[in-house]
Amino acid sequence: MTTRCGFIAVIGAPNAGKSTLINQMVGSKVTIVSPKVQTTRTQVRGIALHENSQIIFVDTPGIFVPKKRLERAMVAAAWAGNDEADMVVLVVDASAKGRAKEETAAIIDRLVQSGDKRPCFLVLNKVDCIAPEKLLKSAQELNDRFPFQATFMVSALKGKGTDDILNTLAAAVPEGPFLFPEDQSGDMPMRFMAAEITREKLYHRLHQELPYSLAVETENWEQFDNGSIKISQIVYVSREAHKPIVLGKGGQTIKAVGQMARKELEDIMGVQVHLKLFVKVHENWADDPERYEHMGLDFRA
Ligand code: GDP
Ligand code: MG
Repeated sequence: MTTRCGFIAVIGAPNAGKSTLINQMVGSKVTIVSPKVQTTRTQVRGIALHENSQIIFVDTPGIFVPKKRLERAMVAAAWAGNDEADMVVLVVDASAKGRAKEETAAIIDRLVQSGDKRPCFLVLNKVDCIAPEKLLKSAQELNDRFPFQATFMVSALKGKGTDDILNTLAAAVPEGPFLFPEDQSGDMPMRFMAAEITREKLYHRLHQELPYSLAVETENWEQFDNGSIKISQIVYVSREAHKPIVLGKGGQTIKAVGQMARKELEDIMGVQVHLKLFVKVHENWADDPERYEHMGLDFRA
């Protein structure tokens, strides 16, 4: 049997639906998703097995003009993920206007300038929120700017059209042995995934600048003889004033977040989970090299 295997970088503006698309194609949750920009902070791999091909998706943070150190490190991680892959998938929110459109244009400019010869596929996402005429117009405009190998129009959320992408990529990745065991779908250590899941729930619960100014780390992971797991995590906030907001009135917010995260972890691992969350103020966590190491980001990017 001839097998194929390759790395596909999934890049695009923040919120285009990159992580949703990868989870859909992999068939399980390997990377977290939220309605807010900058949810994905580092490179995450999601592995799909399709026919005789292993397609290793590299999820990346959204690409935009970074201002802060953390943003710089995130965008650097996105381009690094892009550079290492055999092929590139550019995800565009077809329903987006304004800033997201400019961000996509800037990404395409960079692809053009870099003289990249690798196959690059265009995915117009969120077709469930846009009229067909507009969609065709965007497809045309984007193909005028860059010679995409193929264009797909999909709804990552609804799983519409995503099989076409898989079929195409499965045939396009180079011949070679599988690089991961056949039953592996992600590469994130469970400790890290557990922290990401809590961060995802916080993103859904909190608003304005708060999600962007927090980090979650798994501090302790203890497995008992009966199989149950006790996990403790620290939620770092960057300001004293943020702590009561994250805790919520009578601790309601953090309790709800903890319950949602625990439930998801139990579903994934199939064992009972005790999850303890501690909120800690660390004003300069976004300037602390150790936090970057935890997130797999380059502090000096
Ligand atoms: P990323 O920042 O590019 O990784 O985007 P996410 O995957 O985190 O998705 C950002 C938001 O867009 C989330 O609220 C998703 O539920 C939503 N989203 C993703 N794909 C679709 C889609 O096909 N249709 C709609 N309506 N929403 C989507
Ligand atoms: Mg993402």
